[in-house]
Amino acid sequence: MHEGSIVSSLFEIAEQSKKDANLKEITKVKIVVGKFHQIVEEVMLMHFDIMKQDIPGFENAVLEMEEKDVKIKCSGCGKIFTIDEPIFICPDCDSIETELFQGKELHIQTMEGIE
Ligand SMILES: [Zn+2]
Repeated sequence: MHEGSIVSSLFEIAEQSKKDANLKEITKVKIVVGKFHQIVEEVMLMHFDIMKQDIPGFENAVLEMEEKDVKIKCSGCGKIFTIDEPIFICPDCDSIETELFQGKELHIQTMEGIE
């Protein structure tokens, strides 16, 4: 159920931004999610659609999700690879000295609303 807690913390941030921007109603929330989090889009949308009913100004909001591939950078050869499995070994030089380069993103990118 980790999508549920992610969605609820996103709503906390979104509500604050809505207040800051003085918006009456939010029409769209766009988020960026790294595949490292292994979030299932359908589950995410489901939680969003249920929770938004209880949050004033978000009842008609649509969630848009942009996924980022998981990329690792090898400290040995300096190359960057996109990985599909959580195996953090350089496919080129077999080094295990790799770091996560991309894929841990999890934030709201933009919000659209009505003033
Ligand atoms: Zn390497």
